Amino acid sequence: MHTLRQIPIKQKLVIIIMVTTAAALITAGLGIVIADSLLFRGYLRRDLSATARMIADNSTGALAFNDPAAAAQTLVALRELPHVIGACIYQPDTRVFATYSREGRVDCPPAQRGDGVRFVGDRLTVSQTILLDNRPLGTLILSYDLTEIGERIRLYGGTVLSVLLFASLLALLLSARLRTIIATPISHLVSAATAVSQTGDYSIRAQKLSEDELGALVDRFNEMLAGIQSRDNDLKNALHKVDQERERFHFLAESMPQKIFTATPTGENDYLNRQWMEFTGLSFAQMQGWGWTQFIHPDDLEANLRLWRQSIATGEPFRLEHRFRRADGKYRWHLTRAHAMRDESGNITMWIGSNTDIHEQKEKEEELRRANDDLRQFAYSASHDLQEPIRNVAVYSELIGRRYAEVLDEDGQQFLGFLRESGRRLATLVSDLLAYTVASMAELCETAVNSSAILENARETLAGAIRENQAIVTHGELPEVHMGAAHLHQVFQNLIGNALKYRSHAPPHIHVSAVQRGGMWCFSVRDNGIGIDPQYNDKIFGLFKRLHHDRTLSGTGIGLAICQRVVERYGGRIWVESEPGKGATFFFTVPANQPLSFATGQSSAG
Ligand code: ADP
Repeated sequence: MHTLRQIPIKQKLVIIIMVTTAAALITAGLGIVIADSLLFRGYLRRDLSATARMIADNSTGALAFNDPAAAAQTLVALRELPHVIGACIYQPDTRVFATYSREGRVDCPPAQRGDGVRFVGDRLTVSQTILLDNRPLGTLILSYDLTEIGERIRLYGGTVLSVLLFASLLALLLSARLRTIIATPISHLVSAATAVSQTGDYSIRAQKLSEDELGALVDRFNEMLAGIQSRDNDLKNALHKVDQERERFHFLAESMPQKIFTATPTGENDYLNRQWMEFTGLSFAQMQGWGWTQFIHPDDLEANLRLWRQSIATGEPFRLEHRFRRADGKYRWHLTRAHAMRDESGNITMWIGSNTDIHEQKEKEEELRRANDDLRQFAYSASHDLQEPIRNVAVYSELIGRRYAEVLDEDGQQFLGFLRESGRRLATLVSDLLAYTVASMAELCETAVNSSAILENARETLAGAIRENQAIVTHGELPEVHMGAAHLHQVFQNLIGNALKYRSHAPPHIHVSAVQRGGMWCFSVRDNGIGIDPQYNDKIFGLFKRLHHDRTLSGTGIGLAICQRVVERYGGRIWVESEPGKGATFFFTVPANQPLSFATGQSSAG
């Protein structure tokens, strides 16, 4: 069976056809021989019985007249039957009465009673009672040579064998020709499959030679190849595109002044552009994986690793300002940004990042911060120290006015009036400046305050002006915010104070409300005052910037600058929407949650 499995399908087909044909022919031949043998025996039994009866009938006379010669004469008729080898007629007392022998030697078996046919060895004996008027006169026994059956079997066997040989020969010839009908399409299919697997060329097709199941198999095989070919082409195109993209990326990364890197989803650096090697003087092999940690400033390393691991775990963008050691050993500040690239299922496939040298910018920022601190300190000290002499100017001009009123002529009185007014304005200016510098320097507040309570305080502070102006101050539902109470108080006070100051003829109506937008609360302070020309919407937040110089509308131009300074320190912003004559609405945002740090950016004031 094992060897049968290994032989080619062509030979298998021939063997199958031959074995099947031989089995069918042998079965049919055996069937014919057996059937013929059985039929022949039946026929022989009937034929011999009839012959025996006929001989018995013809022998009655001879027995009745005791004439053995006549009986022998009757038996001679058996010569016509070549296989009857002998016959014996017995008298009732079993003595042999007459005999017949084909060969000349009579060998009479013992007489039997009763009629019957018996097969004994290679002989068949027929016993027939000879009757006259139903009275037994004797018995006839015929002996038949059964070699005829053997001859017949041999004849049939020979015939069957010849037919078998001929048929097998014919089957061999026919199968040798007909097997190609099945074997050829299969070998084509095998050759095509072998060629595809050896060359990897999916444009090869198997030749279809028939419309049967093999034809259908070839069609499906070719369709399969076409499908693979198209997918193979798509894959090749996609790979080509990926290669092109990679080349483009590398070209871009190599030609950029910035340092560029990519990392695996687990954070190992797997690409660093040329600028990295030039900057650090290290090879890619030294920096790849986590090798980059060796050139991070020791003071920045812990935060760097913590943030990078956090980004890898969460997929959030990475951003950090830190110092890298240059080839000459000097550290330079860099801004590193990295973003995760994801596939369609949202899984991170790689990290791509840039490192921008911000050393000069960082140094300038530091210089600027120091200068601003100095300036703020100077403004604070100056405004603080100036308060004392200004107060003296106010006190002594008041004293002069009271004690020397009679001595002063009209001009003197007028000059004293100018002096008092200037002193008063100087005092307001200095106190506003002090408030501005305090707003710039105040510490971050960590606790939440109730903004509606703060608004109430501001309203109480402005109670006199509200009453004088017959103003109405209303508010909607106000939230808790993470902001210093004094800071929020100052913002409300400045905005409501301005709404009262820049009122129209109608009694002022001021409404304060707040809505949440993302992570911020957006407050609004709306009034029905004189409004602002939109072209000045930004300008009015600058330090000392005023639109109305009317003497009745006194001011220093610092109030809105203070508001902006405070709001920006908390990471928010302030702006106005207004039209002249239609009132103004001031908006400002503050974080809904605790701010992470004070904004260090410069105020646009000044
Ligand atoms: P000040 O009120 O001391 O002049 P501010 O910084 O508070 O300084 O305001 C700057 C300018 O913005 C004001 O001079 C005024 O012209 C304009 N302004 C502020 N608030 C309002 C308001 N509610 N309606 C109209 N104009 C306003």
